[in-house]
Amino acid sequence: MTKYVFTTGGVVSSVGKGIVSAGLGLLLESRGLKIAMMKLDPYINVDPGTMNPFEHGEVFVTDDGAETDLDLGHYERFTSAKLSQKSNATTGSIYNAVIQKERRGEFLGKTVQVIPHITDEIKSRIRMLTAEEDGVDVAIVEIGGTVGDIESLPFLEALRQFRLEIGPENCCFVHVTLVPYIEAAGELKTKPTQHSVRALRDIGLQPDVIVCRTGKKRLGPDQCAKIALFCNVTREAIINAEDISPIYAIPLNFKSQQLDGIVLKRLGMDVPEGDLSEWTAMVERLKAAEKVVKIAAVGKYVGHDDAYKSINEAFVHAGIWNDCKVSLQWVDSEQFEKGVDVAATLSEYDGIVVGPGFGSRGIEGKIMAVRYARENRVPYFGICLGMQIAVIEMTRSLLGLPKATSTEFDPNTPDPVISLLSEQRGVMEMGGTMRLGQYRCELGEDTLARAAYGSDVIFERHRHRYEFNNAYLERLCASGMVVSGRHVKGDHELVEIIELKGHPWFCASQFHPEFKSKPQRPQPLFRDFVRAAAAYKDARA
Ligand code: GLN
Repeated sequence: MTKYVFTTGGVVSSVGKGIVSAGLGLLLESRGLKIAMMKLDPYINVDPGTMNPFEHGEVFVTDDGAETDLDLGHYERFTSAKLSQKSNATTGSIYNAVIQKERRGEFLGKTVQVIPHITDEIKSRIRMLTAEEDGVDVAIVEIGGTVGDIESLPFLEALRQFRLEIGPENCCFVHVTLVPYIEAAGELKTKPTQHSVRALRDIGLQPDVIVCRTGKKRLGPDQCAKIALFCNVTREAIINAEDISPIYAIPLNFKSQQLDGIVLKRLGMDVPEGDLSEWTAMVERLKAAEKVVKIAAVGKYVGHDDAYKSINEAFVHAGIWNDCKVSLQWVDSEQFEKGVDVAATLSEYDGIVVGPGFGSRGIEGKIMAVRYARENRVPYFGICLGMQIAVIEMTRSLLGLPKATSTEFDPNTPDPVISLLSEQRGVMEMGGTMRLGQYRCELGEDTLARAAYGSDVIFERHRHRYEFNNAYLERLCASGMVVSGRHVKGDHELVEIIELKGHPWFCASQFHPEFKSKPQRPQPLFRDFVRAAAAYKDARA
């Protein structure tokens, strides 16, 4: 029978519930347990696919094409839990399902209400997570938002009911809170934590473990005892979670305080200690790296660190493998359009990446950056939009078609070298309608891609509406472009990876390789791009 861990957050949002959940998942897996992971999000969007990543953070994509919260990326990077459409449910998707049932008449004349209909739907989503997967020992379910929010009430009420239905002995509640340090008092303050636990208790939930985010400080024994007393939690179950870098070292801090042991004891599970030696070695290797490789990420200005979370992490992973630290710096592409010198700006970098994006702002500047990388033999890596930009640049420069662009940016361009996917014609709704999820890709011989993957067939995840227009294929290939990856669909071939003949490392994919990268198994294209950038740096020195 599956046991459940529920992670809630208190005091503030962004308190790190995702990493706590993922880190606990890692510790449980290290003991040989099979886990499942899920996130419940209280916002009304049916999924985060329509939300602005510059505000909400990256949209993470699963193999089966779910557009999900970025915390699912942490789950995949820290654990081997299988994530899918079932792993993320929002208030919007839950109401959607209940309203559709009501329209079909399935409630037989009843008044449809938050309790029991919405809470029933929430519980059924939690049950569905493991319904088709055998042998899941522990399911970790993270509740988004902050305890005390109006929006999260139905979720917490559903957990209260769920706990009784499956038996309190089969549930463990982990509450993650902020314990702020007040400079003037010279003290960590536990009161907000007490209040947030009181708010949980009002709803009928009592945490079993409290993970305290304490910034740069650490709780002393007296403060732990105080939180334990006021919050009705055992002393050992107050976990210190000071800021730790790199994030992959965080679970090791939890391990040193026996977070997994405490949770398992609560769940009545007797499981031998786990082996974290490989994970520890990975963290040590990451910390030990001294050589710095500087990569320019050329794009629109990003105010939000999390907007490209998986890309940032994939570069960390590639750095571990190459024993170097990747310093990824955002370079605003719009400045090039305003006359800032491209060569002067980009010459201090060892590699250039253009990442995913939507809309026409900053596009011309990105094209200039690709031209610089191509002409100066600087390692270039394009991801999704970054591939489309590379194609546009080559069409303009190598084929002499200066107006070439994507129909996303100019629907009337005479040279639509990137155009709407045929399956997208007639699609009117924005939510969940892109080409999403994993597709098969065949790799050509003697290419960078083939060398990176060491295999002739790969599966990678997508999220786009536009594609390479095959009307330009022959001409571009005759001018030096190489198609190294293609998706064959009936008699149509989609270009999935392009390269450039004679360039040391120029590779761009229509898919998003970042979603499958893990700290112990860097994504092959990221890994080889960083290796090429390191070599470029050495050659320049
Ligand atoms: N805007 C482009 C498209 O829809 C690229 C999308 C992306 O980079 N994810 O095809």
